[in-house]
Amino acid sequence: MTTIDEYLGTSAVANVKRAIQAAKDKPEYNALLALCEERALEQASKVDSGEIKGRLAGVPFVAKDNFLTFGAPTTAASHILKDFNAPLQATAIEKLEAEGAICIGKANLDAFAHGGSTENSVFGPTLNAVDKDRVAGGSSGGSAVATALGIVPFATGTDTGGSIRQPASFNGVYGVKPTYGTVSRFGVVAMASSTDTIGCFATSASDAQLVMDVMAGRDARDMTSLPDFFEIADVKSGQKIGIIKEFMTDDVDAGVKQSVIQYVDRLKSAGHTVEEVSLPILKYALAMYYVIVPAEISSNLARYDGVRYGKRADAGTLSDLYGKSRNDGFVSENKRRIMIGSYVLSSGYFDAYYMQAQKARTLLINAFNELFNTYDVLLGPVSPTPAFKLGENTSDPIKMYLADMMTVAPSLTGMPAISVPARATDEGLPVGVQLIGQRRHDAQLLALAKSVEGAA
Ligand code: GLN
Repeated sequence: MTTIDEYLGTSAVANVKRAIQAAKDKPEYNALLALCEERALEQASKVDSGEIKGRLAGVPFVAKDNFLTFGAPTTAASHILKDFNAPLQATAIEKLEAEGAICIGKANLDAFAHGGSTENSVFGPTLNAVDKDRVAGGSSGGSAVATALGIVPFATGTDTGGSIRQPASFNGVYGVKPTYGTVSRFGVVAMASSTDTIGCFATSASDAQLVMDVMAGRDARDMTSLPDFFEIADVKSGQKIGIIKEFMTDDVDAGVKQSVIQYVDRLKSAGHTVEEVSLPILKYALAMYYVIVPAEISSNLARYDGVRYGKRADAGTLSDLYGKSRNDGFVSENKRRIMIGSYVLSSGYFDAYYMQAQKARTLLINAFNELFNTYDVLLGPVSPTPAFKLGENTSDPIKMYLADMMTVAPSLTGMPAISVPARATDEGLPVGVQLIGQRRHDAQLLALAKSVEGAA
């Protein structure tokens, strides 16, 4: 793995060449869908000539392929956007470039970010960085693996229900899902607008802090983006931390639990208090998520009809054109969500499912807020298991959804949550600990993680 520091103050062209070579040396992982070689070298010359300066001058990164970027197509790992060349770049990418960072490639993901293993990509799965028989996690699997393999020191990702945290945890890197609205969503392919967040992967808490600090801030093109609150913070001493009981049951892998307990010991040695807390409503979080998120997906994906957006199928009539373009363009998981979403929004079921789920979501937010009256941070695993085997969950969507049980709640509440690498299991598989904070306490979570970094 590499850190941002290693690329600062050196030749940007050399940095870009190094990263591109590293990517080319490891094609078997299928972490990247495309390289932006030409444009990256152009940008690098501008950094080397002093035309572009900044806090990330000459630092290479990869963007999940649902960020609109120049230099390579933006496919969302789908058929329908396979040949889509973006006319503009996402605000997050523009901000990184303005500080001198250089996008060298586009990272693999589950098609439209629907999934938790990167097996839903039409370009084939990404392999886990530590064990090639296992999944990378998802949906931002390519970004996590590119970071874990040391191709780049950081990568962008999107997290709607765990897509940054879970692959970060499966590959042993940091993953940040910020407070909803921290980073502009403009120019990022939408999944579920009320929980979509833009974040990053990095190999240290300080690097993650720096990248988030650069990307954060209000954007006139995203009405939900927040005024910049992201300030690099110092760790507060003597914090009160709650370990979530519902995430430490017998159903959770023993190795995962041990890593969490070991991390708790580190926090205690650093002078923080850790107590068990209970959030009974968490058992409904997955049900809320898989009603609300598909509802928003069905609406957001309506634009990919072969007319307004997306690859157009050959068809004789307009209705066939819509039907065929969408049938060819989406993978099964996309279609499943469009159908569930349309169902829960239909007139007969709107009150029974969608409204119910939104009400429950309010109760979930209240339950978290209640605990934050007493606790600074809540903690638990990111995922009930380490990275599972390729193909293990693909035939059973419900099993795949269950892997999201620990990440969806912070998404529904809009609260920041980060995945911090903890001790690996006895088999050597990475495990991530999830730190959850109050809205806008992102930097505090990173500061806490940093303060116990390396104290294994
Ligand atoms: N695995 C979750 C899902 O399939 C999360 C996806 C995401 O955050 N993009 O919905």
